[in-house]
Amino acid sequence: MKFKILLLLGLSTQVFAQKKPKNVIFLIGDGMGLSQISTLVYFKDSASNFETFKHIGFSKTSSTSHKVTDSAAGATAFTTGQKSYNRAIGVSKDTVSLPTILEQLEAKNYKTGLISLCTITHATPASFYAHVKDRDMFEEIATDLSNSGVDFFAGAGYKYFTERKDGQNLFPIMEKKGFVLDTVSLKTNLDPKKRYGFLLDRLDHPAKDKGRGEFLPDATKLALSYLSKNKDGFFLMSEGSYIDWAGHQNNAEMLVMEQLDFDKVVGIALDFAKKDKNTLVIVTADHETGATAIEKGKTADKVQVTFNTDQHTGTMVPVFAYGPGSELFQGIYQNNEIYHKLKALLDF
Ligand SMILES: [Zn+2]
Repeated sequence: MKFKILLLLGLSTQVFAQKKPKNVIFLIGDGMGLSQISTLVYFKDSASNFETFKHIGFSKTSSTSHKVTDSAAGATAFTTGQKSYNRAIGVSKDTVSLPTILEQLEAKNYKTGLISLCTITHATPASFYAHVKDRDMFEEIATDLSNSGVDFFAGAGYKYFTERKDGQNLFPIMEKKGFVLDTVSLKTNLDPKKRYGFLLDRLDHPAKDKGRGEFLPDATKLALSYLSKNKDGFFLMSEGSYIDWAGHQNNAEMLVMEQLDFDKVVGIALDFAKKDKNTLVIVTADHETGATAIEKGKTADKVQVTFNTDQHTGTMVPVFAYGPGSELFQGIYQNNEIYHKLKALLDF
């Protein structure tokens, strides 16, 4: 009996001792499996930022329609807590709109931000704010962004806002809603009372090896300095979109460059979280792309990155967590569980 009581006490203190974060930085390496991350072991001169993480898990990525998911169903599982079909954006398997983590946190006065290298209407970022039955409904997705509560976004694809088939120009409408918009460059010294949207290319940004520069690290730093001024907390998603594209193109050099760029963003997030102590950093992927392998090189001291498909694969993807609540992300679980773990930690 005494033993039982002690055991119960032990369990309850464990539950209460669960530290909770205020802020979340959610980094998605699109198409980033273990081989992609492993390229850093061989092609980065110093230790990769991934080596900082102590709490690591794996997620199972299948969608309701396909064993091998796409980015739309993959991201929708993170943002809504429900698995859906391939091509679904923020809707259930029956195409019913589901509230997203971003919308639920906005209701708690969180500031929210989204960063992507492709069009901001592309599947991964879109799943955080839009609700459409097919990922290619770019103009409808742009309209959903204009009506959303997102405070900061940076990416590309102004075409879907200003050169629309319906003849509407969303920019003036968004400016009336408090957005400062820019299609030329990232601004600095952002005013916490305003909202910001940076769409620096008509369609996607160039890949790193085609001269993209430091957009992803710079936009992530800028978003953190802006969002962290909010005392009620923030949620930032930043996406290394071209890790996936390198897999589709079976382009090893591009893959390494994109993975190095994304590693820099991981470092920025970890630096912020180490200082802040109230921020949970999650780094994961929606799926793996390319059945990418690290094979023996031509000489014993070299490796070569090879691909076994130009499609997505069904391998589990790693989940890395740092900060308060990070221990919850250990183990093997379904991708939509990431939403439920965040919900338990952030009480939304
Ligand atoms: Zn893809």
